[in-house]
Amino acid sequence: MLKNCRMNMEASFLDKLQRSGRLEAEEYKSLLFSRDRETVLSLHAMARERTLAEFGHSVYLRGLLEISNICRNDCLYCGIRRSNGNIRRYRLTGTRIMDSCRKAYRSGFRTFVLQGGELGPDAVRWITEITSEIRRTFPDCAITLSLGEYEDSVYAEFRDAGADRYLLRHETSDPRHYARLHPEGMSLAHRMYCLDVLKRLGFQTGTGIMVASPYQTADDIVGDILFIGKFRPEMIGLGPFIPHKDTIFADYWDRGQSLLDDMSVRDAALELTLRLISIFRLMFPRALIPASTALATIAPDGRERGILAGANVIMPNITPPSVRDDYALYDCKLSSGAESAEGLRELAAGLERIGYVISWDRGDFRYE
Ligand code: SAM
Repeated sequence: MLKNCRMNMEASFLDKLQRSGRLEAEEYKSLLFSRDRETVLSLHAMARERTLAEFGHSVYLRGLLEISNICRNDCLYCGIRRSNGNIRRYRLTGTRIMDSCRKAYRSGFRTFVLQGGELGPDAVRWITEITSEIRRTFPDCAITLSLGEYEDSVYAEFRDAGADRYLLRHETSDPRHYARLHPEGMSLAHRMYCLDVLKRLGFQTGTGIMVASPYQTADDIVGDILFIGKFRPEMIGLGPFIPHKDTIFADYWDRGQSLLDDMSVRDAALELTLRLISIFRLMFPRALIPASTALATIAPDGRERGILAGANVIMPNITPPSVRDDYALYDCKLSSGAESAEGLRELAAGLERIGYVISWDRGDFRYE
C-alpha cells in the first residue's frame, strides 16, 4: 500500500519533470534516490526520448587534449594534485599541441578541449598564444578550455584569443562539503564567481560535479541540481568519483557510506551518475552532456549507458600517447581503445550497437 503510494507519487514527479523541466527539492530527491526500478527505467526512457527528439541518434565528439598535469592546487581527491610526488609532470610544447590538433582534425574532430591542471599566472601567455594559434589554424573549429580558475581579465584574454567554451565543474554547491574536499585557501565562492564571469564574457559555460564523492550527502546532490537549474550551463559534466591511490581517499570505495542502501559505494556512483544525466536532460533538453571518461572507466558499458540515459557528447582522448598515463586523475583512467582518437572505429561500433552514430558537427549551443 505504502509502496504503491510512493510509486504513484514518483510517477507524478516524473510527469511534472517531463512537462515543466523543473521540480521542487524533495521531488528531485525522491526521483534520484528512488528504490523503484520502474521509476528509474521510466526516467531514463523519458530522457532518452527527449534527447532523440532534439538530436536524433547523433552523438557529438570532442577531442580531449590534456595539455599539462602540472597543478598549483591540492584538491584532496585528485591524482594530479600538487603534493603528489609519485607522478611525472609534463607540459606539452606548442608544437605537440598543434600536431595533436592537426591529427585530430584529419580524423574529423571539430572541437578541441584543452584541459589541464591549474598552472596560474605564469602560464597565461602560453595558453593565450596557443589558443590564438589554434583559432588561426582551424577557424571552423570550436575551442574549449578547462584550465581552472583565473582573474576576470585573464578569462577575457582567453576569449579574445578565440576560445568559445569553458568547462569548470563547481564540484559541489555546499561550502562545507567543498571544504572537506579542498585545502584551505581554495574557495567555492571563488569558483562560483569564476563561473559567473565566464558566462558574462560570452563563453558557452560548463559546470558539474563528481558523483558520490567523499562526504557527499543526498541533500548535497539535490543542492547541485538546484544550483545547475539556476545557473543554466550550456554543458553539464558529471562523472562518478573514482579513488586515486596517492590520495587520502584511496580506499573510499571500501570504507565510504553508499548513497543508495542496496548498492556498494562504487555501484551507487555509477547508478546516480546515470540518473543525474537523465534528470538534467529533462531539465535542459538542448544541453551538451558528456558520457564522461570516468563513466566509461567505472563500467565497461558505462559510455553506452550514459548515451542511453540522455548524454549526447563523447570526448575521445587526443593527447600524445606518451604522456597519457601521466594525466591520471584517478586509478585505471581510460585513455585508449574507444576512449581515444585511435579507437574511433571501436567507438563507432559501440555506438552502432545501441543505434547511434558519430556526429562531426561542432554542436554549439547557446540559450536565447
Ligand atoms: N584544473 C581544471 C579545473 O580545476 O577545472 C581542470 C582539470 S580537473 C583535474 C578536471 C576534473 O577532474 C575536475 O573538475 C574533477 O571533477 C575531476 N576529477 C578529479 N579527480 C577525480 C576523481 N578522483 N574522480 C573523478 N573525477 C575527478
